Amino acid sequence: MKNYKYLFVFTLTYFALGFLNIHFALLGLICMTLPIILLIKNTKKTWCQGYCPRASLYSKCGKLTSKYSYKTPAFFIKGFMKWIMLGYFAVSLTLIILSTIAVANGKPPLDIVKFLIVFPLGKIPQAFNIVSPPWVLHLSYRFYSMMATTTALGLILALIYKPRTWCTICPISTISELYIKSK
Ligand code: SF4
Repeated sequence: MKNYKYLFVFTLTYFALGFLNIHFALLGLICMTLPIILLIKNTKKTWCQGYCPRASLYSKCGKLTSKYSYKTPAFFIKGFMKWIMLGYFAVSLTLIILSTIAVANGKPPLDIVKFLIVFPLGKIPQAFNIVSPPWVLHLSYRFYSMMATTTALGLILALIYKPRTWCTICPISTISELYIKSK
């Protein structure tokens, strides 16, 4: 990975912006679409190899404990863990889409952060307000929750195992591998 040394700043900025206003969480869409656009354009993991801000954060933080890190479990590298994470990603995304449609149809928005879809962490203090339709507020919180959950899981793995252990089970990586194989 050549270009990623300071990209972790983007990840920290993303989560900080959520405390200015939660609507900035929609910037997470870029993180989800850019890897796929680059994958289709180049038929290789361009994003993972040089542009991923989260991998940059994991590398930075993982170095702090690299002396004491454990061996990455085999089921992360070649086993079922990547399929569990892909399943989590698919369920999350489906729930985000369905619940946002429900809010657009009159259900109240869920304006709290949740960890792993089910554990409520509460509202985020807001520096200023932006008036938007309730479904946009709902979608923003849901994106922030998904980004916070996967980033936190990746950080925990980086501190226990090798810095980029998350990359072995990251849904973007699994989708990329499937796409490249299909080509
Ligand atoms: S595998 Fe996931 S976290 Fe790792 S570099 Fe690729 S997109 Fe980023």
